Amino acid sequence: MRLVLLGPPGAGKGTQAQVLSKDLSIPHVSTGDMLREALRQTSPLGLEAKGYMEKGKLVPDTLVIALVKERLLKEDAAKGFILDGFPRTPEQARVLDHTLEELKIPLDLVLYFETSLPVITRRLSGRRICGKCGKNFHLVNFKPKVDGVCDACGSALVQRPDDREETIGKRLKVYNEETTPLIDYYGKKGNLVRVSGDLEVRPLNTQLMELFKKKGLLRGALANS
Ligand code: AMP
Repeated sequence: MRLVLLGPPGAGKGTQAQVLSKDLSIPHVSTGDMLREALRQTSPLGLEAKGYMEKGKLVPDTLVIALVKERLLKEDAAKGFILDGFPRTPEQARVLDHTLEELKIPLDLVLYFETSLPVITRRLSGRRICGKCGKNFHLVNFKPKVDGVCDACGSALVQRPDDREETIGKRLKVYNEETTPLIDYYGKKGNLVRVSGDLEVRPLNTQLMELFKKKGLLRGALANS
């Protein structure tokens, strides 16, 4: 199954993608996670992206597009993928379409996480990530087993610099200006489905699995697992 998760920061795309990736045995491809990993490794890409990310701005299309193209060509993406946080601009969407057309692997669905502002603010202010492996948690909704400690690798949890209050407003403005045109773009193409990002992880997951079943997308997907 090939999915794009579209929606504002704090819509719960990353958390839902983590669960779906496990259920469907397909990789979760998050450009935000990949860029943060590049930053931890202090690679040239990470260093170039750093300033944009800290200010809540978008990293230039050329850098992100190259990153995604390379990732989608990896073997594990052949059976499907969940794109989270990409595409984020009309240019990224056009290049993605073109690339998938060339590879003859069209998207199955674009899930648009419609999310209200109070929920976005609550999610972003409570989000914590592992400083080492990047796994996401939430102080209330997705708690680690031990407070402040990553379940996966045992390292300390931290707040993302761009989740601080002063940057959240900027990220939402960028989302409204640069990413919301994609709702229309995919709506016209006919593969957009609106879901409620206000729902918690499990109820939304149940709805999504029902949707996949109804659309006949589960048979091949579950054979992968
Ligand atoms: P995210 O984890 O998806 O919220 O992304 C964190 C930050 O990474 C964003 O605020 C951007 O600075 C950068 N980023 C992630 N994905 C993209 C993208 N598709 N295009 C441009 N910048 C991105």
